Amino acid sequence: MDSDTNFKQLRVAVIGGGLGGLSAAIALRRSGHLVEIYERRNFNVEVGAAVSCAANGTQWLREWEVDIPSMKPVVLMKLVMHDWETGEILNQYDLENYEEQWGNVYNMFHRQDMHAGLLRAATSPDGLGTPATVVVDHVCESVDYEKGTVTFQNGRTTIADLIIGSDGIRSVVRREIGIIPSVKSAPQTCYRCNVRRTDVERLGLQPYSLEPAIHYWGGMPQNESSTTRSQFYKVVMSPCSDYDIVSFYCFMPTEMTNHTKEGFSFIEVPVSDITKGCYDSLDDDCLALIKNSIDRMPWRLYKHEPYPHWQKGKVCILGDAAHPMMPHQSQGACQAIEDAAALGIIFSSTYDFTNNIAQGLALYERIRKPRGTRVQEASWRATLNINERIGFTSLTAHDTALAALSGKLTINEMNAYRMHDHIHEEVSKLACL
Ligand SMILES: Cc1cc2nc3c(=O)[nH]c(=O)nc-3n(C[C@H](O)[C@H](O)[C@H](O)COP(=O)(O)OP(=O)(O)OC[C@H]3O[C@@H](n4cnc5c(N)ncnc54)[C@H](O)[C@@H]3O)c2cc1C
Repeated sequence: MDSDTNFKQLRVAVIGGGLGGLSAAIALRRSGHLVEIYERRNFNVEVGAAVSCAANGTQWLREWEVDIPSMKPVVLMKLVMHDWETGEILNQYDLENYEEQWGNVYNMFHRQDMHAGLLRAATSPDGLGTPATVVVDHVCESVDYEKGTVTFQNGRTTIADLIIGSDGIRSVVRREIGIIPSVKSAPQTCYRCNVRRTDVERLGLQPYSLEPAIHYWGGMPQNESSTTRSQFYKVVMSPCSDYDIVSFYCFMPTEMTNHTKEGFSFIEVPVSDITKGCYDSLDDDCLALIKNSIDRMPWRLYKHEPYPHWQKGKVCILGDAAHPMMPHQSQGACQAIEDAAALGIIFSSTYDFTNNIAQGLALYERIRKPRGTRVQEASWRATLNINERIGFTSLTAHDTALAALSGKLTINEMNAYRMHDHIHEEVSKLACL
């Protein structure tokens, strides 16, 4: 299968221009295909907070020659745990050796910066392949997975050899390939907000918020006698956007919110929506930052059971459409990037799947579903128990074996994974049939 003689350029329709859809467009244009991205809205309304891009995501940005500095990264160097009430530092992990160990840095991006950088890489005349085109204000209404047609709410249609459903957590494409999600409300909800660096400095707020570190408060299970604060109270803070923004994720038990809409909404909430309940007793310095925040948006969390399949006919799903996960492994964007990378490799001239889309998509599902689902399930376990979160420090062989026995997701598993080799092995098995 190591020949490019049968390679065929595909017409690819990407439905949804979020981080996953744009990554797929980059990977597939670089593999020689003609890509059109259909997005339901205009990108100007984008908001967001910090998005983690660990080594397993950064690896692909580098392979795709994305201009990472233009995405204003903050390279993570430290992980700091604070006491909820006093702010006292309970624990600190040094990530100074992270790049040396894993070959790539751990980037924190502001979602808008990451989105803008990926959009440039997908559509720029520079770079390998034909630039992807973007069609905004097109809401996908239905898809015919056999014919390869897409119909939009405005009555327009398009036809493609390959359709990628990267339309997020409430995916229409997913429904069109016969998946009915089994969803339940999570016991924890979240508010995202940002603090401007200028406000941190002007108001004399905590300067440590501008260090290359993620800071945590809470999240630990309380002992049984505690009736006050559950593990669902947690604050995660990190700088992003060249340190111009300090991003907050403020978690609390679901019964503390009235917001029910899943996904990323644009309803700005008053600060009091966040600072009620046990936030009364939060470390004063941290609370002062939250009280001076902007872009305060609810992010209601739901648990999706893994889906039975990720592809049908000419259609596949990726990113949040395929494996919506809780945020506690910080892998949502990285897993979407990995999905995109797999499609780019499978439909490259190295293999022969451009002449057999269904077989290529079956391989995509075989490569990506077990790993994506494993991270999805681990993100749920980490909601209930923070100790299930991927460790940041290197694990010894003994630790790795123990973690593997207990089923815990390990950093080795995430960062030492070699997708090119994995695909090659699977294709070799197919060739033997
Ligand atoms: C506005 C927004 C803000 C976010 N903020 C954060 C954040 O602060 N922190 C964080 O960790 N994660 C955030 N995320 C999620 C994070 O980006 C994703 O979990 C991850 O990157 C996977 O990306 P995705 O492309 O699969 O999904 P998404 O990033 O959700 O992208 C899906 C895209 O599909 C489009 N779409 C949906 N339905 C249709 C349709 N029917 N037709 C056409 N287009 C459609 C959406 O408008 C969106 O652009 C945010 C997502 C969005 C959309």
